[in-house]
Amino acid sequence: MSALLKDRRALVTAGASGIGRVIAERLIEADARCMVCDVDTAALDAFTSTFGKGLAVRADVSDEAQVDVMFDQVEQQLGGLDILVNNAGISGPTLPAEELSLEDWQRTIAVNLDGHFLCARRAIPLLRDAGGGSIVNMSSIGGRLGYPKRAAYAAAKWGIIGFTKTLSIELGPLGIRVNAIQPGMVEGPRVERVMREKAASAGISYETLQERAFQRISLRRGVTAEDVAALVVFLVSDAGRNISGQAIPVDGDQTSLG
Ligand code: NAD
Repeated sequence: MSALLKDRRALVTAGASGIGRVIAERLIEADARCMVCDVDTAALDAFTSTFGKGLAVRADVSDEAQVDVMFDQVEQQLGGLDILVNNAGISGPTLPAEELSLEDWQRTIAVNLDGHFLCARRAIPLLRDAGGGSIVNMSSIGGRLGYPKRAAYAAAKWGIIGFTKTLSIELGPLGIRVNAIQPGMVEGPRVERVMREKAASAGISYETLQERAFQRISLRRGVTAEDVAALVVFLVSDAGRNISGQAIPVDGDQTSLG
């Protein structure tokens, strides 16, 4: 993997923790110069203490002014950009659509969808100036299926697919490839917390609920952040040079069953 992305400059949004942090680590391991943004200051500090000062920026991707300041810093620190990983996203409240407030709907759309747009819009001139590049957008299998009690999240994750395909058509002639990744349930503290809450409210053990969930997945196992990061590295490297406009599930084949 080493040197696969030598001299490439990358930005990973929401890269200070969770899946984004693992993506950033793998890009750095492949020799990319990688910056991250996040809203979590403590996680950003932890990132800079490992990878060096100037590589982490505090920015909320749904805020146009903050995105502008972030991209100014990216230009200063990296001198341009070859790779944008639009990873930032929030689940929003777990509620049926009729109980969802307009404010919660709009916040979920703002982070998941506006954030992708705002960051891509600032990245495009930099990628063009670099003579081409790659954008990876983070959708979800919630962007392939319906997702009960997560209407805003599903709407945003489906929206990312339309955005990805449109950008791919617009930017392909410039040598800029645009793809989306659709992870299934990624193992980690967030999913474990949600599953433990679900198990408790259903009156069953966490292990029983997890086993039932695996029965709906062809490969009978969960997805890891490493699985997602491996696909990102592949897509942004020259190995993915003829792949654009695609929405690729990393879900152990949860979606064949529907
Ligand atoms: P997470 O909840 O662990 O959050 C990761 C980081 O995002 C945190 O450091 C947080 O501070 C940051 N963040 C939140 N709002 C932000 C904002 N407005 N601007 C900048 N940073 C912000 O998320 P995760 O589980 O690592 O998920 C990352 C992406 O993958 C999201 O787009 C998510 O929808 C998608 N995804 C996750 C799963 C899963 O099972 N975890 C499944 C499918 C898709």
